[in-house]
Amino acid sequence: MIEKQPSCDDVSEPALLPVTEARRRLFDSIEAITQDECIPLSGSLHRVLSVDVVSPMDVPLQANSAMDGYAIHHSSIPPVGEANLSVIGTAWAGQPCELAVTTGQAVRIFTGAIMPTGTDTVVIQEHVRGGSDKIDIDSDVAVGRNVRLAGEDVTQGQVVLCKGRQLQAADVGVLASLGIHTVNVFRRLKVAFFTTGDELQSLDEQVAGETLAPGMLFDSNRYTLAALLQGLGVETIDLGIVRDNENDTREALERAAAKADVVITSGGVSAGEADYVTRVFHELGDVSFWKLAIRPGRPLAYGSLRGATFFGLPGNPVAVMVTFLEFVQPALRYLGGMSEVQPMAIPARCLSNLRKSPGRVEYQRGIMAVDDSGQLVVQSTGKQGAGRLSSMSMANCLIVIDSEVDGVQPGDTVAVQPFHGLLPG
Ligand code: AMP
Ligand code: MG
Repeated sequence: MIEKQPSCDDVSEPALLPVTEARRRLFDSIEAITQDECIPLSGSLHRVLSVDVVSPMDVPLQANSAMDGYAIHHSSIPPVGEANLSVIGTAWAGQPCELAVTTGQAVRIFTGAIMPTGTDTVVIQEHVRGGSDKIDIDSDVAVGRNVRLAGEDVTQGQVVLCKGRQLQAADVGVLASLGIHTVNVFRRLKVAFFTTGDELQSLDEQVAGETLAPGMLFDSNRYTLAALLQGLGVETIDLGIVRDNENDTREALERAAAKADVVITSGGVSAGEADYVTRVFHELGDVSFWKLAIRPGRPLAYGSLRGATFFGLPGNPVAVMVTFLEFVQPALRYLGGMSEVQPMAIPARCLSNLRKSPGRVEYQRGIMAVDDSGQLVVQSTGKQGAGRLSSMSMANCLIVIDSEVDGVQPGDTVAVQPFHGLLPG
């Protein structure tokens, strides 16, 4: 009988590296970049702050009205019945009323207008009788109502956004509200990537209508990687397709490492004759070959190559995406200075029967939705082969099934990682 070597086909293999251990080793061995630059706020979306931002002012700067109505001092509110007040002026947004208001007086005020001196309460126009120079108000007016206080949004000296924050649309708005027009952010990471394989046909040279030669396939991984990287806001260097031979592989790896902070490849990381990335790496860099306890995507090469961080991803298109999302993306976020890097996992009720053997964490493709009772549910996209990239495109989340689980029944709770948030951009 033939003595069988370990392979991707094995149901379980004791020597496989658990995901948590792989993550620990990864994060123990990388350091975030420190170089930063000052850029205009208008171009700062998705960039990462390199310093805390401290507010130079209160927002709002002065107390102002939240409604259209009448500004009064609370001493004008009658204990019972009604009070008759004289309207002594008008305060518009951007056009303050300079008059000081005393008990028995009111100022007509519009939303956003500064509260005149002596006022602390706004009675909305729907709650008064009269107008122009005289109004009646009721005793049920609440003191301090309808006033936005100075500093109630942000106070001067407060840290509004912390170092490591990736700027979202609201953050850009908050910074603008503080009059901050430039921000200090970490420089962009430079990421070089190439795909490997003699079977790959580049679309770059593809003439419309041309068919594939037998045994060839279009190089989709390079497009997937480019798109994933684009969404992360890194600078990309596309080094094309590298054929399965030692010289080209060595040259491409050296060129990539000289140009970039991070080098990513696809394919050639198994133990086969044509797996040159593995072979060249053994002589060039300080690289570990991880047989991860995950499916899809068991082989992953990781290490440092002449100062660059290197990820050798598997060749199968789904495995490329899964290993990228689970390992490369968190690492790129961390290297780029971000403080929150791990994908979010949330519980959902599974509607499908999911086949799985214990021994590896599985990332199956799922479609999540909210059911009639408002509960988050997820169903499988169907067949889960590592080459079926369309399953990734149909999915809106990954279903993460823990290593020891041996299958999921309809009704079981599973963890899902939504692409919205998981996928960049
Ligand atoms: P490898 O890990 O190099 O043996 O690649 C495994 C399989 O992944 C290959 O047989 C191809 O079917 C597929 N593959 C590898 N590279 C690519 C690529 N760049 N684009 C699409 N499919 C690929
Ligand atoms: Mg290959």
